[in-house]
Formats: sequence, C-alpha cells, structure tokens
Amino acid sequence: MGSNASTLLRDEEIQEIEEQTGFSHKQILRLYSRFTSLDKTSSGRLGRSDLLRIPELAVNPLGDRIIQSFFADSPDGNIDFKKFMKTLAIFRPIRKSDGPGAVNSVENKLKFAFKMYDLDGDDKISKDELLVVLEMMVGNNITDDQLGLIADRTIKESDQDNVGHITFENFSKALERNDPGQMMSIRFLN
Ligand code: CA
Repeated sequence: MGSNASTLLRDEEIQEIEEQTGFSHKQILRLYSRFTSLDKTSSGRLGRSDLLRIPELAVNPLGDRIIQSFFADSPDGNIDFKKFMKTLAIFRPIRKSDGPGAVNSVENKLKFAFKMYDLDGDDKISKDELLVVLEMMVGNNITDDQLGLIADRTIKESDQDNVGHITFENFSKALERNDPGQMMSIRFLN
C-alpha cells in the first residue's frame, strides 16, 4: 500500500490495453492497483493462488474453472497484467460503441461460458462434463441420482440434433433467452 500504481504502468501500455479491452483509463488504473495488491511478491505476475484471494472468485462455485481460464494460454501458470485484463475484458458490459468484433461480444461471452463446461476442450459438452460442473455448483446438496436426472434433462432440452451432447450452437440457442450479454457481464467501477 501507499505506492502510486499509476506510476508503474507506462502511458503507452495503458493506451494499448485501452484499445485491446475497451476499459477506460480510470478503470485500467483501478484494476492495476487491484492486480498489484494481489501480487504479493511484486513480480508483475499472478498465479492461481493469487487469483484465489479474489473474494468474488473464492466464493463462486465455478471459481476454479474461471481461474483456470485466465491461464488458458499460459502454460507456466503465470499471467501478467495484460493477460489478466484480456480475460477480464470478456466480462465488460456491452456498450453501443463496441463493434461486432469486440472482445466482450455476446459470442465471446457465450464461448467463455461454454468453455466452463467443456472440460476436455473437444467443443462438446458431454453428460459427464455437465455432471462435474453441476456437482461443483450444488455441492453435496443433492444425490447423484438427482444430478443424473438434471443432466439428462438439460441435455435433452438443449440437444436439438439428438447427438447426445451439447454443441456450442445449441448451447448458445438455449442461453439466448436469458440475455447472455447481460448475464456474462460484471459491472466494473468507473
Ligand atoms: Ca467436452
């Protein structure tokens, strides 16, 4: 504490992140100060255990999966501030000025949600994967049989082509009714 986060981030870097993520200058500085407070070793990078200290993620039943997604293309298990912001940007609420290719588009939000379930990354959500994620969400509150029934029903409802798993297309269709653009957004302080 007591250090001025804005002095550690160069203006060009802020501008680059602004262009890539659509976050405002002010939001970037605020999130940078959050980033540095999680970075206990002052290495400029965060690992899994650092992200677990974010209270919103620690209490989120899917927190583990969300944290994993930050490291999707970081095999060394560490991310710098730019990568951190790239993932956060997916959750940025959509505004009129965002183009169709924006990082926070409805499609990218849906893709992110789909990946939460698609544990093996084969672009299909199988019944087993659905079961694993459902179990994470409900804990031990219901029996395996009940979970199995819920998984069967969910697949039946979303699997319009009757292939026994959920494709991204059917997943998107099923979620469209719930306004995914809104659902997959987090209000960042301005
Ligand atoms: Ca899969």
